[in-house]
Amino acid sequence: MLQITITLPDGSQEQYPSGITAAEIAFKLSKRLAAAAVAAKINDKLIDLNTKLEQDAKFEIVTFDSEEGKEVYRHTASHAMAHAVKKLFPEAKLTIGPSIESGFYYDFDTPHPLVPEDLERIGAEMQKIIDADLPLSHREVSKDEAIKIFEERGEDYKVEMLHEMPDEIVSLYQQDDFIDLCLGPHLPSTGKLKAVKLLSVAGAYWRGDESRQMLQRIYGTAYNKKADLELHLKRIEEAEKRDHRKLGRELDFFSLHEEHAGPGLVYWHPKGAIVRRIVEDFWKDEHIKRGYQLVMIPHIAKSDLWYTSGHYDFYRENMYTMQIDRQEYVLKPMNCPGHILIYKTKVHSYRELPIRYAELGTVYRYERSGVLHGMFRVRGFTQDDAHIFCTPEQLPSELVGVIDLMDYLLRGFGYEKYEIELSVRDPENKDKYMGSDEDWERAENALAGALNQRNLSYKRMEGEAVFYGPKIDVKLVDALGHSWQGPTIQFDFNLPGRFDVNYVGPDNKEHEVVMVHRTVLGSMERFIGGLIEYYSGALPLWLSPVQAKILTITDEQIDYAQQVVTQLIEAGLRTEADIRSEKLGFKIREAQLEKIPYMLVVGNREASSGQVAVRLRNGEDLGPMNVSDFIKLAADEISKKK
Ligand SMILES: [Zn+2]
Ligand SMILES: [Zn+2]
Repeated sequence: MLQITITLPDGSQEQYPSGITAAEIAFKLSKRLAAAAVAAKINDKLIDLNTKLEQDAKFEIVTFDSEEGKEVYRHTASHAMAHAVKKLFPEAKLTIGPSIESGFYYDFDTPHPLVPEDLERIGAEMQKIIDADLPLSHREVSKDEAIKIFEERGEDYKVEMLHEMPDEIVSLYQQDDFIDLCLGPHLPSTGKLKAVKLLSVAGAYWRGDESRQMLQRIYGTAYNKKADLELHLKRIEEAEKRDHRKLGRELDFFSLHEEHAGPGLVYWHPKGAIVRRIVEDFWKDEHIKRGYQLVMIPHIAKSDLWYTSGHYDFYRENMYTMQIDRQEYVLKPMNCPGHILIYKTKVHSYRELPIRYAELGTVYRYERSGVLHGMFRVRGFTQDDAHIFCTPEQLPSELVGVIDLMDYLLRGFGYEKYEIELSVRDPENKDKYMGSDEDWERAENALAGALNQRNLSYKRMEGEAVFYGPKIDVKLVDALGHSWQGPTIQFDFNLPGRFDVNYVGPDNKEHEVVMVHRTVLGSMERFIGGLIEYYSGALPLWLSPVQAKILTITDEQIDYAQQVVTQLIEAGLRTEADIRSEKLGFKIREAQLEKIPYMLVVGNREASSGQVAVRLRNGEDLGPMNVSDFIKLAADEISKKK
């Protein structure tokens, strides 16, 4: 029999008869490994465990512990789920079912929207399919044959996808009577799925396109150990408690009006607007202290401006346009061209540089409705934007300044942990990028130098830079360990040339400026949404829209309560009073739900002694104190931004 040579990841080689399957090799290598195997790789390509090997190859077993292993595992779960849906709702039509971060989903066109009870039934049916341990078989057929198969089964979406495929041969997977169009790989049988849970159902447009059919997306997750699934479900529960969409509604911070006003557009209610004003004031004050100048620009500009900037060519699908006086205008997706126009109204000498223009600039960017998410992914948002125009010599100190500011602001908001990535050019593909070698080296060194000077560790991301310059990305790490996009510092070798942005040097000649775009908080929407989740809605005192609430015990203290309110407001504390004739316990619970930092209880004793009994939102009781002492305590806490 013909022998083939398999090279394992450690470099060792084994001989096996040609035609041996990946699963059989795994079994020969180790029984434990064979039990844990979910797929294999030959020459770095993922394959099914029952694939036969007929040639010499590099070989690797893939287990659930790797990202790829999890994908195969969870994607197989999506097949099992789709199978269950087809059994319960034969008229449902299949679309796609990928694995996603920490789970999977499958989109179906169903005659009726699915409800939570359906989810339970689907979950139970899916368990039967898992218990039946159905093998998944793979075959390749011609595209025409596949079209015929799916037409007969009424799977219109699969037929649509097939028509768009360039390939002549396509790949099908089947378990029992369930057939899916899929490249694989998958687990060898449904029984390999150990711990599966369906989580939720939501509407999703076919291909994320609002003009297409609304589908039903079922989310689920799968683990190879019950305990890990339980742990994951606990984390989801915790994340749901912190979800800014839920808390934002409960705390009356903001709303979205998808039906009436359009998706991805945030309406800030009075309490949310207070938080935003505090964030903005802090931001503006710190910028002014550090030599930034505040500017403001209009929200629309003729498309000519966006042709010059290049956005019209490479960012067109994200831009909103409108016709005014037979002229096309663009709702600004970026603030940069506007700031450049302001810079260019004068000739600037090198002595005036650096010039730092800052703006809380609202921008609008089209995003597919499928990716929108509360305040995190929206279509209209206010960036905390700034552009630095400087000379090459000033670059290093400018970057240190930005990192300093970033660090100061983030710590001010209580973020202690963040991860930094430095995206640099792909050294193998230098012609993909704008700007000279010298520009790139200088910029990359300046970015790395600034991080080193501040002793900040970072990950160097080779080839991750955009074509017009290297950048620093900072990811904030939230309480659940998820990271999300925070500050960015982006070099630009593109716009200064396109707009002819210059300064006059000591040699009396014009030189192109060095331009840096930077944002520290990202956007007001995402940042404040993030703060809500980070603090589970219990914002620190300096950020809380209501800092103290006076709670009367009986109607006898109404006058006194109002006196205290006036006193606190005069001292600059955002204060309210609850003078309803409700039970004190009820008032306390409500104030706790509103996450109000200080509850000041007043009864007859407090009224006669000029005191308040101080309670914290976590239930802690600080006892009675003089109003003036409470004001001091609160002022001290606010000044420390605690
Ligand atoms: Zn598949
Ligand atoms: Zn910019």
